[in-house]
Amino acid sequence: MLSALKRSEELTSINNKNFDLIVVGGGITGAGIALDATLRGLKVALFEKQDFAQGTSSRSTKLVHGGLRYLEHLEFGVVRAVGRERKIVHENAMHIVIPEKMILPIIDGGSLGEFTSNIALKLYDFLADVKKLEQRKMLNKKEVVEKEPLLDAPSLKGGALYYEYKTDDARLTIETLKKAEEKGAKAFNYTEVEEFLYDENSKIKGVKVADKISGEQFSVFGNYVVNATGIWVDKMRKKDNPNSPKQLHITKGIHIVVPKSKLPLSHSIYFDVGDKRMVFAIPRFDIVYIGTTDTNYDKNYETPEFGKQDVQYLIDAMNRIAPKANLTMQDVESVWVGLRPLIHQEGKAPSELSRKDEIFYSDSGLLSIAGGKLTGYRLMAKKVVDIIQKRIKKAENRDIGQCVTKNVKLAGGEFEFDYSFVKLVEYADNKYDEVKQMGISVAEFKKLFYRYGKNIDHLINKAYEFYNDKNSNKLSWIKAELWYLINYECVLTISDYFVRRTGMIHFFVNEILPNLNDVADYMQEILGWSDEHKNQQKEDFLKTYKQATEFV
Ligand SMILES: Cc1cc2nc3c(=O)[nH]c(=O)nc-3n(C[C@H](O)[C@H](O)[C@H](O)COP(=O)(O)OP(=O)(O)OC[C@H]3O[C@@H](n4cnc5c(N)ncnc54)[C@H](O)[C@@H]3O)c2cc1C
Repeated sequence: MLSALKRSEELTSINNKNFDLIVVGGGITGAGIALDATLRGLKVALFEKQDFAQGTSSRSTKLVHGGLRYLEHLEFGVVRAVGRERKIVHENAMHIVIPEKMILPIIDGGSLGEFTSNIALKLYDFLADVKKLEQRKMLNKKEVVEKEPLLDAPSLKGGALYYEYKTDDARLTIETLKKAEEKGAKAFNYTEVEEFLYDENSKIKGVKVADKISGEQFSVFGNYVVNATGIWVDKMRKKDNPNSPKQLHITKGIHIVVPKSKLPLSHSIYFDVGDKRMVFAIPRFDIVYIGTTDTNYDKNYETPEFGKQDVQYLIDAMNRIAPKANLTMQDVESVWVGLRPLIHQEGKAPSELSRKDEIFYSDSGLLSIAGGKLTGYRLMAKKVVDIIQKRIKKAENRDIGQCVTKNVKLAGGEFEFDYSFVKLVEYADNKYDEVKQMGISVAEFKKLFYRYGKNIDHLINKAYEFYNDKNSNKLSWIKAELWYLINYECVLTISDYFVRRTGMIHFFVNEILPNLNDVADYMQEILGWSDEHKNQQKEDFLKTYKQATEFV
């Protein structure tokens, strides 16, 4: 259990202890490495300086995709590897990686003609080994407009229908970490690796960690240390060796959220912006999010900044492809900003930079990994742990075995049946039948089911308890969810709850303020906060809320 209530005790218990592997960074890359290594029998500790996934891994386009666009740059290897990986990620976390129908409109004067789109998608089907039912289908203009009336514009020539998968990046990260923890890894949020520790031969032998909650410091030793800190990889490498060269190129991508009533789409759209870039519009619940931009970035990493022009770029792009929507700045409910840790390539513009991953070796033994995609996290983890496997074999003549994550279901995805979307929906329907007498709507229940998968049972049991204890139906479910998140997902702040564990700040923004006091009160009760701490928490959260929603 990744429990907030046991965190402090667990952290104290590992002070001065030795691990096989220390992972620095609790984004999807670090989470994947922790899981892979733990499953190969290694004793693993992971430290994350903010909340889990608070870096780039909660700020992506939230697609498990092969990167159709990378075909343009002839990155066949990336498309092949990551495209094939989609199916594995989807089958191992079927509650949070859901098939998504995408429409690729073909526009007069656009960079993608009918012929090129057809060939590119055919190649994509082949490289990504797309299953027959999900292979691309070319559409004429009438067929596109029947599916998406908003796309009806004089410049529309036709389109293509194909499939990707949509996910919740922060939840994919936490489900990976929960599985690693279940298998024996120790993972801590709000713990910053401040320094590396070295032996007499200048080889890395551990880390000095600061607990951001208590202010205490710990030393933890590890035979191997991996730097999986995303955009902070260069900074960490400099801590290890001030002469380390810059390896990363950081670019910024923003997404805007508008109500579905203003942009009523029923498919995701992947469209040409006209400046050699492509943008997604993705409907989810009652909103549609649009993104992303891709521009150089050199400002604050912890709270990435953006400008009105970034928002306007996406509004203009959307209005070009769906003029009838007539979106304006006032329609934007919230914004999120992510920073890409791309591998530096001399003289290349942001959108030309490869999305491949790379491992950097340091003389101290520190391994660093950056680049890549959320979708390819399992393969990146395998690459890193394969190197550690070789080092262990050489140093200790011990064989830790091969990667097994291909067949390991993430937390919440451990259903008894093999992947079938129909069965998953049936399972959710049956669960709903069990709880509907508590007055929860199907929509509310499904929202929770597709957040927690098989672990919905924990919430159901707890919701019954609160309900029988005379809480209202709505409050029973809010408390049950918080109880689960605190006990199983180490939620320590109000932002952890509204931003990363539930995504409410973007997907259900209107539900936040009416529930804020109840959430703060229950967190105070269960986490033992003082009134002062609770008020500080609310203030901190409102700052985050304002950054996401009040930008004009
Ligand atoms: C706008 C945008 C859209 C994207 N869309 C997609 C998409 O749709 N699909 C896809 O597959 N990929 C997508 N990506 C790429 C994907 O999001 C990233 O490749 C991935 O999230 C990177 O994960 P990471 O774990 O390497 O980095 P991060 O998630 O940033 O994790 C690194 C962590 O290290 C922590 N850290 C740093 N320093 C320390 C320290 N000293 N001690 C402890 N912890 C530390 C940070 O707090 C951070 O949480 C997108 C990226 C962006 C920016």
